[in-house]
Amino acid sequence: MTALKLTNVCKSFGQVNVLKNIDLTVEENEFVVFVGPSGCGKSTLLRVIAGLEEATSGTVEIDGQTVNEVPPAKRGIAMVFQSYALYPHLTVRGNMELGLKQAGHPKDEVARRITEASRMLSLDPYLERRPAELSGGQRQRVAIGRAIVRNPKLFLFDEPLSNLDAALRLNTRVEIANLHRQIDASMIYVTHDQTEAMTLADKIVVLRDGRVEQIGSPMELYNNPANRFVAEFIGSPA
Ligand code: ADP
Ligand code: MG
Repeated sequence: MTALKLTNVCKSFGQVNVLKNIDLTVEENEFVVFVGPSGCGKSTLLRVIAGLEEATSGTVEIDGQTVNEVPPAKRGIAMVFQSYALYPHLTVRGNMELGLKQAGHPKDEVARRITEASRMLSLDPYLERRPAELSGGQRQRVAIGRAIVRNPKLFLFDEPLSNLDAALRLNTRVEIANLHRQIDASMIYVTHDQTEAMTLADKIVVLRDGRVEQIGSPMELYNNPANRFVAEFIGSPA
């Protein structure tokens, strides 16, 4: 089953064309990684998929429905930002609860989901702390936890590890891979780190200047890069 389908998606800001004719499908439970240099449009593409930005033309369909026709709480999408985007005045629990309460879930169900997610991410000891009392790695887990408790069908990760040091990056990458194994959801993961892309992805989408250069499995891209740009990005032998 197709979870997400983009057809000829274009996005401009004023005169600047940031996304150009993007066609893409994401299957249920697929792990898709977007790679490409800084400024090529990765974050914009995620924001269009999340419905935070509207495509200038083209369509974004989730489970066969146009994204902007579905109210945000019903889209089944949760996004994890590079900057974590936590509310500083709320505790870890408060940050996780917020979206759920708005969506009208009963109290005990909210508590149950938070317990489960905080166990999964080893956050149980920190539930009553505020973000300022946590390390960068812990904050990033809270951001991931906040996504998990919403039970999304599609996770969007925008360079989630780029503010972490090398050891934590490896750690968190393994955790995200485990999460994907445990949870019934598709994931789209943006990175400019080739190792992250090669190890996490079922399918890699190479972007350059707002266009898709190539889509394929890590091995397909490595063995058969469409052009030199892809080869250099993926690290194929020349
Ligand atoms: P990436 O995430 O790959 O680094 P972005 O999607 O953030 O790239 O940005 C792609 C391009 O779109 C950049 O040139 C950026 O300046 C431009 N851009 C992004 N958001 C806006 C906006 N809200 N208004 C104008 N230009 C934008
Ligand atoms: Mg970005």
